[in-house]
Amino acid sequence: MRNLLFSLLILPLTNIAYSHGHDLSHTWLGDKAAYKSVKMFDVKKFKKSNIEISDSLFIDTEFIKTKLAEYSGAKKINVDGKDVLISERKSPKGRKLGREFLKQEYEKLGFKVSFQEYGSFRKGSNFIAEKLGDDESRVLIISSHIDSVQNSGANDDGTGTISALAIAKALNKYRSKYTLRIVGFDQEEVGLVGSKAYVKSLKKEELIGDIQLEMMGTNSRKDGVFHVIDCDKSHSTFLTDSIAQAIIDNDIDLKVNKACTTRSDHAKFWDADLPAVVLSENFFGGDSDKCYHKKCDVLDERIDFNYIEKITKAVAHSAKKLIETY
Ligand SMILES: [Zn+2]
Repeated sequence: MRNLLFSLLILPLTNIAYSHGHDLSHTWLGDKAAYKSVKMFDVKKFKKSNIEISDSLFIDTEFIKTKLAEYSGAKKINVDGKDVLISERKSPKGRKLGREFLKQEYEKLGFKVSFQEYGSFRKGSNFIAEKLGDDESRVLIISSHIDSVQNSGANDDGTGTISALAIAKALNKYRSKYTLRIVGFDQEEVGLVGSKAYVKSLKKEELIGDIQLEMMGTNSRKDGVFHVIDCDKSHSTFLTDSIAQAIIDNDIDLKVNKACTTRSDHAKFWDADLPAVVLSENFFGGDSDKCYHKKCDVLDERIDFNYIEKITKAVAHSAKKLIETY
């Protein structure tokens, strides 16, 4: 009886304390409407186009494994002649180290790297790497966010950031008509601060579209389902179609689950009526990372490299067409 009374009195209090300590109102977990919006998207309605098998892109999964280990603090990196660990990407110092690492990697590929500093109260810096096309007036952006909630989020958003790097590597051997730009947004987790500053500065007429890569590392059901999120916005659905076409053309074993959320950097493009989508694991379909925004978001067996490879391949092929490589 005493125990029962104890639980009746104390449990509700601890529940309140828990929900206050873990405010979900701005997280994907707290996006109730997104869970209701889940709808499978039939990629099979797309007909296979005539592409040459020899034109299939090689996605270097060993490279993704190594770079994700380095970027998420599982392995030391060398910056300016010093061996260091990216132990977190939350503080200004941790985020800066992450950007320095990315700068080195993209410069090895021959991309032109720059930073966009912004803000006075909430200062930050977006990472930008670019390979110019022959016609510089049009740009495709592949983006992710470079900050993290706890440590050096391996999944959130190490997977998106390193997938973008692997796409840049795979497309690097081609010339292209249009420019490929990789952007790492700063301060996504504290309210889409970096992307807001970035979209403000963007020459809007040059944008083909933005493909944001978010948490695409866990697939505990092993069913190959992932989200391509366009909220059925008419200016953005062509990006979903392009990814679906790439899946069909290259026989990639993936299934697309649509859902609708504005809780990532793609939403800042939508605010300016610009085309964007966000890709992620099947978060709202019930297969989200159990370590989402927790200290356990480290590089371990949760991270499914086969799944990352497939999504990376689909986006790389889609990008290859959108920038018209040759
Ligand atoms: Zn994220």
